[in-house]
Amino acid sequence: MKRGFLKTAKAKKTEGIGLPRVPPKGDGSLAPQPHIKLPYGKLAKTGNVASVIDFVQPNIVTARPIEGFVSKKVFGREASGDTVDYSENTIVITTLPRVDSDATQDDEPDNWTECILTGHIKLRILSTPGFPRPVEKPAGGKVNHRVGPSPFGGLGVFATRSVRTGDLIVAERPLLITPRGFQQAAGSGSKGLSKEEIIQVMSRVNHSCSPNTDHRFNMASLSFELRAVRDIKKGEELFYSYCDIYQTKSERAEELAPYGIVCVCPGCVGATKETDSLRSELAKRVGKIQVGHLVWLKDQSRPNVLAASLKLIAEIEKEGLHSAPLALLLGIVANFYSASGNTNSAMKYSDQLDNLCRASTLGRSLESNGLTVGKALI
Ligand SMILES: [Zn+2]
Repeated sequence: MKRGFLKTAKAKKTEGIGLPRVPPKGDGSLAPQPHIKLPYGKLAKTGNVASVIDFVQPNIVTARPIEGFVSKKVFGREASGDTVDYSENTIVITTLPRVDSDATQDDEPDNWTECILTGHIKLRILSTPGFPRPVEKPAGGKVNHRVGPSPFGGLGVFATRSVRTGDLIVAERPLLITPRGFQQAAGSGSKGLSKEEIIQVMSRVNHSCSPNTDHRFNMASLSFELRAVRDIKKGEELFYSYCDIYQTKSERAEELAPYGIVCVCPGCVGATKETDSLRSELAKRVGKIQVGHLVWLKDQSRPNVLAASLKLIAEIEKEGLHSAPLALLLGIVANFYSASGNTNSAMKYSDQLDNLCRASTLGRSLESNGLTVGKALI
């Protein structure tokens, strides 16, 4: 629960690209003009978007496979968003989904994304089944969040009603997609850049090392989705992690330092040798349980891993690490109960797994490999 990246001293040293003015809204008032800041410094080192688009921050994504701003084949703004016959590394400036030049937000309530990307990435986006799907709305179409002052300083995002694990909180299209490395290449000396504020909701979500939400990019709708990774009560502040949460407190602090963040989340304030060990050794512990479970499945006279799995699940939930390792353990427990003929317990854990996978990148990873989550594992 530190300040978000955009509120840091580092963020203040950013330059931005001014986007086209948003046309008047239906009531004739002028909507705020969206602008993008291009941060200096560290970019996200891993992607969560089907190996095509990397997350940097919710309103700026970086498209691979470009490492550095290498292409000199800048195409310029194209006339049609449907064109795809570029060479792989040609830089294309376009708008997606394609909109008429005089379109307003009344015509396109889901908004659109200004894109500076390679021909390769554009083809991948346009080839995504269902593209462009409408941006998903929370259940019942009700807004379930608000932006307001955070007790940790600055602004934050809060749940305005209770949200269940896996539920969508908000989805929004990024204002800008750029090639990886473009921001650094743009630099402070680039012409046509201006300093402006970012106005998107997800950029207001603060960091925690024990987050209650996760985000992922939905290529078909070209939008970021923020979902609950555990049940969230009305009024709770929403957090996601800006760093790898499976590190010790000091390692997390080091990773967060370039963002100007000094974390005071419960996971950091309450950190001990045991919680450091839980986080950094979690993959190893889960792996050991997985092996033990496979042995038991082949020969049920061998010791089972149920007690060890449930104990580790309790430790994980207490520390607030609702992510892939927890999902794997829920799958193991569901599978154990299923193999033991205890259908009710199997379904209980399978449902928990389904809900968590709806929120986490693990679910997307399974889906991209043609697998369904949860019940397919039992
Ligand atoms: Zn923390």
